[in-house]
Amino acid sequence: MKTVDEHLADILAATKELPPLEVTLLEALHGVLAEPVTAPVDLPPFDNSAMDGYAVFASDVAGASETSPVTLSVVGDIAAGDQEAYGIRAGLCARIMTGAPVPAGADAIVPVEWTDGGTAKVAIRRPAKVGNYIRRSGEDVTVGQTVLESGTRLGAAQIGMLAAIGRARVSVRPRPRVVVLSTGSELVEPGTMVGPGQIWDANGFALTAAATEAGGVGFRQGVIGDDPRQVLAGIEEQLGFADLIITSGGVSMGARDVVKEVLSGLGTMKFDKVAMRPGKPQGFGLLDDRTPVFTLPGNPVSAFVSFQVFVRPALRALQGLPPDPLPTVVAHLSEPVTSPAGLRHYLRGALEYRDGVYHVSPAEGQGSHQIFSLSSSNALMVVGEDTTALAAGDEVDVMRLP
Ligand code: AMP
Ligand code: MG
Repeated sequence: MKTVDEHLADILAATKELPPLEVTLLEALHGVLAEPVTAPVDLPPFDNSAMDGYAVFASDVAGASETSPVTLSVVGDIAAGDQEAYGIRAGLCARIMTGAPVPAGADAIVPVEWTDGGTAKVAIRRPAKVGNYIRRSGEDVTVGQTVLESGTRLGAAQIGMLAAIGRARVSVRPRPRVVVLSTGSELVEPGTMVGPGQIWDANGFALTAAATEAGGVGFRQGVIGDDPRQVLAGIEEQLGFADLIITSGGVSMGARDVVKEVLSGLGTMKFDKVAMRPGKPQGFGLLDDRTPVFTLPGNPVSAFVSFQVFVRPALRALQGLPPDPLPTVVAHLSEPVTSPAGLRHYLRGALEYRDGVYHVSPAEGQGSHQIFSLSSSNALMVVGEDTTALAAGDEVDVMRLP
């Protein structure tokens, strides 16, 4: 048997990052930046007003107060987007709008709220310090500054940053296309009737959703029966399109374990027993020299746990991201648990933060077919290979589920 760490190391050694693509900004959303981006200009690019008000010489209004306002002549209006070069002299002021360029000479903005709002003459009731409500050129970003590092996942704020420095396109590693195939002659589509001996395909949906949650784009293919030709055709059909393929079912010791049967010997596919519970039978390899294929066990919890432990880091690696595991905290067990020697045991549980400490209580029903205890848990407790029993109050590593 392989350990979890050995299996993951083999997966990561084989998984190469996807080539970057040059795309438009909105196409880049959720992609991972494949170039460092530097600012071609200062931001703001010019000194501008932070308020609607009046551009003044601060020295002119130094003595202004409620009881003795200073009155200045208004030479004109400056609106955001105005392109004429304005300037004012001492003793004068200009009405100015938010975002408009500060006229040459002026060194403070008096907000309209401190004045009577006059258009020919204005009475100013409060002094303003030099620089008051002026947004200085370069105070946000300076020309040449790196605003986004290579390897940054682009969310809305980062897309806005790119637009603000005038970029229309960037180089990103796109979200990997993950194709999910469920195998099993007992499986039928949710929304249709189940006959005797049949069940609805849960894994196809859970794994497709998990792939999207983990930063990929999941594509669910329908169910495939336990028929070698159909299974092989189903996988081959996706090879040109998919960046990663996941199958579920058909990899254990049954007489109908067709996934293992048809993929053994193809590409670098290997089928192993991994020392973990749930999820012992695992297959992984590259097909066509480039596409990682994960054949996960069919029990829904086994498939899900295998995804989080093995597929998720590989999806990150495809995008050039460090293959971090799910965020993990140390929690205190609320009740004792036992665990098989030699296996890494993932137990579903409820993680809670109380009185400054994390607490975790194991779910009832830890069978690998029991999807309800998964859907009602928010975490996986990770009990190491060498630990066979933990007492209430003991510390245990806990992975938060997405
Ligand atoms: P297998 O790995 O094919 O031997 O399947 C193990 C168990 O998981 C069996 O009870 C299957 O019926 C069940 N199973 C397999 N695939 C799915 C699926 N897509 N959705 C729900 N249960 C499944
Ligand atoms: Mg099966």
